[in-house]
Amino acid sequence: MHFFNYKGSRFYAEGVPVEKIAKEVGTPCFIYSSRTLVRHYHAFDGAFKDIPHLICYSVKANSNLAVLRTFIGEGSGLDIVSGGELYRALKAGVDPKKVVFSGVGKREEEIEYAIKRCILMLNVESPEELRFINRIAGRLKKRAGIAIRVNPDVDPRTHPYISTGLKKNKFGIEADLAVKEYIYAKRYLKSLDLIGVDCHIGSQITKLSPFIDALRKTKGFITALRNEGVDIKYLDIGGGLGITYDREKPPHPSRYGKAIIRETKGLGLTLIFEPGRVMVGNAGILVTRVLYTKQSAEKRFIIVDAAMNDLARPSLYGSYHTIKPVKMYRGRGEVIADVVGPICESGDFLAKERELPPFKSGDMMAIMSSGGYGFSMSSNYNSRLRAVEVMVKGREFRVIRERETYRDLIKGEGMP
Ligand SMILES: *Cc1c(COP(=O)(O)O)cnc(C)c1O
Repeated sequence: MHFFNYKGSRFYAEGVPVEKIAKEVGTPCFIYSSRTLVRHYHAFDGAFKDIPHLICYSVKANSNLAVLRTFIGEGSGLDIVSGGELYRALKAGVDPKKVVFSGVGKREEEIEYAIKRCILMLNVESPEELRFINRIAGRLKKRAGIAIRVNPDVDPRTHPYISTGLKKNKFGIEADLAVKEYIYAKRYLKSLDLIGVDCHIGSQITKLSPFIDALRKTKGFITALRNEGVDIKYLDIGGGLGITYDREKPPHPSRYGKAIIRETKGLGLTLIFEPGRVMVGNAGILVTRVLYTKQSAEKRFIIVDAAMNDLARPSLYGSYHTIKPVKMYRGRGEVIADVVGPICESGDFLAKERELPPFKSGDMMAIMSSGGYGFSMSSNYNSRLRAVEVMVKGREFRVIRERETYRDLIKGEGMP
């Protein structure tokens, strides 16, 4: 559910015509709906209202300060995967005791930064990392909160690039070894505080069963730990709940919640969640203007001013994003076309063989579901300026990140 809708023939973001925003700030532009963000947060949070839990919104899905601040304002913590994200999180005003730090390749200075700021826990992904964190914490005369990320070896049935809980993936530690690591750490790694178990199996998951399979395996794991005298407080279930881009029918957070509550009953643990996409994905659109249209012998192309550097998902995963005209067309038929950007790669497309209204030069379109893994994955490829980001709230809107300038492009470069 989101607040991007037609009123008459005009497309609105909450109470503001999208065309008005685009005319004022230019295109391409990302537009986020504050009301949608808040609604999504509470849909998720509400699903767990009867049990102890903490939501740590996954910063990498959309890391704009205004987005982070919106969630923090509703009570959210944050899931980070780098020192840069910790910096953003703190700037946005997060309570460090609500921050968890995931990722397979944390650097020394990132670990130090996190320990000094006393975040809740680091999700550890290898035995070497566990020992490394212990040494750093010891040197800082602190204790680091730790969860080991267990690789449950379940298939989330999503795109292979975003599945993370299979044995062949680089993430986590397999269960048998992880038990040994907890026992070892408890005995010998005195600067660690073993408070959690973590399990994140992938992204854009549209069925409940992979979550349940992973939970069952993790429960077995927790029992094995308890039998060895290792007791923990937190079970971090990760993120991964999918959204509707096209015709997917992912479970509503309330159904996901019921299933998880049923499965974790009696464990006596505080649950942590790291939702990203489900919070922001459908809360944002990318607005782009048609530059040219052309008809080749085989195909029709609609060439727009947004490209794979703005929204990488179609090129990267072959993802589908719904496209809507910013001004509705009246009875002029549909065309089948590829929507492509100006970048010098044939992989630069936003839609392929899509049935669309007869867009012509100067028209604008909204690429739906671009709020997650949109701007946060964008780049300067082809020396293109990264897009402006706008937040709408009711009848008002605000630029929350200015469009880059040519000067920004060469920042830090030199000609020795
Ligand atoms: C990416 C990621 C998430 C968020 O995934 P979504 O599919 O966006 O919910 C959560 N936890 C970890 C460890 C991640 O890497």
